[in-house]
Amino acid sequence: MLKFHSLIQKHAQELAEIIVMENGKNITEALADVAKGNETVEYACSLPQLAQGKKLRVSGQVSCEDRRDPLGIITSIVPFNFPFMVPMWTTPIALVLGNCVILKPSEKVPMTMRRVVSLMEEAGFPPGVFQMIQGTANAVTSLIDNSSIKAVTFVGSSPVAELVANRCRAINKRVTALGGAKNHLVALSDCDVEQASSDIVVSFAGCAGQRCMAASVLLLVGHGPTQTDLLQMVVSKSQQIQPGTGPGAMGPVIDQASFEKINMYIEDSVKNGAEMLLDGRHAVCGGSNGCWIGPTVIHHKNASDRALHEEIFGPVLSVYTVNSWTEAIAIENANPFGNAACIYTNNGGNAEWFVHRFRAAMLGINIGIPVPREPFSFGGLYGTKSKFGDMDITGDGAMEFFTNRIKVTSKWVVSAQPQEVETSNTAVDHANFAGRM
Ligand code: NAD
Repeated sequence: MLKFHSLIQKHAQELAEIIVMENGKNITEALADVAKGNETVEYACSLPQLAQGKKLRVSGQVSCEDRRDPLGIITSIVPFNFPFMVPMWTTPIALVLGNCVILKPSEKVPMTMRRVVSLMEEAGFPPGVFQMIQGTANAVTSLIDNSSIKAVTFVGSSPVAELVANRCRAINKRVTALGGAKNHLVALSDCDVEQASSDIVVSFAGCAGQRCMAASVLLLVGHGPTQTDLLQMVVSKSQQIQPGTGPGAMGPVIDQASFEKINMYIEDSVKNGAEMLLDGRHAVCGGSNGCWIGPTVIHHKNASDRALHEEIFGPVLSVYTVNSWTEAIAIENANPFGNAACIYTNNGGNAEWFVHRFRAAMLGINIGIPVPREPFSFGGLYGTKSKFGDMDITGDGAMEFFTNRIKVTSKWVVSAQPQEVETSNTAVDHANFAGRM
């Protein structure tokens, strides 16, 4: 695994170029996809130290031991938006914990992981411990139903996450299934406008908005000059983003279906009387055939607009003005997803108020993409459309997911009185435990 980690570093540029080609991220984002994925490989390298069992004498001669055994073969079903990072959320951790992995990449980005498989071979992974199959829904259902597969991880859209989780549950198979998101950002009037506006733009427009952690709704609390300035800065910084795949540019969205869906939400908002602060619908990129949409900022007047409630998965920021903190929290809490939320403020007490009331599992304070880095685990809130099944992915969530905890309770009775052993200063101390280490 250490060798694999260094091979990924060595081939980061090559992998990033494949990601640009098949996914459409810009090159900086693609390099970040590789670097973030390799962080989980690094974390997996430390699991021999972290994934300890425990043993305790619990009474008289009785001891209890708790150890982690691998599950066997597990499968990971992954989405298109991070062709390297999301497969690495599970694969290295599952392998180091002693499992075998069968991965199914998204049919929209089949190439990056093909190259990664050859790097695994070069690193000396034993044949067969990692396998990859390409395919779509039928491949997924065959993997779930196969009795050799002991657990399923899924990352993708909510409807499919729910299907996968239900199918696994029906046959008592361990499953964690992360779904979609509708992440809310709340800006208070005491926020740092310069910093918050840059962060908001990175959050909603980065990776063309195709991130489960992307900002989707910005709730402005109050109608003062800070709110006006913040909105103007968000729009002017977004305007500077050009279509393309070079550093700082915005790549195309993944396909025509996604393009049409995003446009549908924008048009629906316009029909409902929303104000278009920035309209990305007619973005073009020098004759390229990609599905281009520029950054789009919509100021909604109608709280029931679909764009405020459903996952769009494109570079669209829906702004809505509220009168109070409680109104902001009520809107955020009412959304059916529960992935991420963020508060922008310069006051620690204000931030605390929000992070204890948001109904999401990954929260940010002045950080619009609050992705926890290992050893912290990643995952949305149970009981929402963002998470079905059990446990988080990565970190200690993954440690728990990819192992069976075996409990051994033992009692040893001494068969005869032990012979007393003479000790003297001349006894040989082979282990060198006499204080001279
Ligand atoms: P998707 O649900 O269309 O596909 C995900 C995977 O499921 C793919 O491998 C696909 O082949 C497979 N699949 C598709 N339809 C299926 C079906 N009917 N039965 C079984 N398997 C099926 O998702 P996508 O478009 O590739 O990715 C975007 C979605 O993923 C967004 O909703 C995004 O929010 C979500 N996502 C969530 C997280 C998270 O951590 N919560 C992370 C990344 C992406």
